[in-house]
Amino acid sequence: MSPTIVNNVESLCHVKHILQMGGAEYAKLGTPNNTGTRILCVSGDVVNPGYYEVEVGKVTMGEVINVLCGGLKPGRKLKAIIPGGSSSKVLRADETYKLKDGREIGIMDIPMDFDTMAQCGTMAGSGGVIIMDDSRSMTWVINNLNNFYAHESCGQCTPCREGSLWMKKISDRIVGGTASPDDVDTLETVANQIEGKTICAFGEAASWPTQSFIKKFRDELKGDCKTELTGKIVSDEGLVASAKLVKA
Ligand code: SF4
Repeated sequence: MSPTIVNNVESLCHVKHILQMGGAEYAKLGTPNNTGTRILCVSGDVVNPGYYEVEVGKVTMGEVINVLCGGLKPGRKLKAIIPGGSSSKVLRADETYKLKDGREIGIMDIPMDFDTMAQCGTMAGSGGVIIMDDSRSMTWVINNLNNFYAHESCGQCTPCREGSLWMKKISDRIVGGTASPDDVDTLETVANQIEGKTICAFGEAASWPTQSFIKKFRDELKGDCKTELTGKIVSDEGLVASAKLVKA
């Protein structure tokens, strides 16, 4: 086995400019405590998704959507945003955020920097901004994310290995229409049992989406469940049937 090292490509890209400009000059880009530039990877329901390099904190979420990305798709309303990669906690379009300086801002006014994102209860993370409009099922979204995390878990620690798989299985059931409303609560419990109990940060990365989607879209997720299944155990056959339903 050979030693390996993984470097963040975005960080390496900055090195060239820091060496060319000098650290002090480079640090004039961006905003205090949030210096330099970031490369935002905007995907989802905007007219022009893509990569956009911006000075940290110099543009707002609204400017990213409406200026850089050409706005939402015609006739659609904003529903939610994952602001910093799929593990960052989801933001609802109708929320407001109380900042340390006393200001209360809406989602479109959030500056794209690390400190403000943290004050809004999420993170700038990897810079992967996922825009979701009102055509999106939040049940489908969290199921999609849970399938990803179950696939990516390396399996070394039990809470992540088993928990990410159970989060996938339960959200498979919800999206397939074979879950009871209790399953949403169980799903939340599983996520809570992963966070802080693993040897690498993937455990948090896997649990935060489920925790935040349930916290902010609990009614929608429960609405996709069948109340008549409350207290019943869904069979493997039900799971197979739900998988076919998703594929169709
Ligand atoms: S938390 Fe990290 S080390 Fe543990 S199983 Fe998940 S990916 Fe592997």
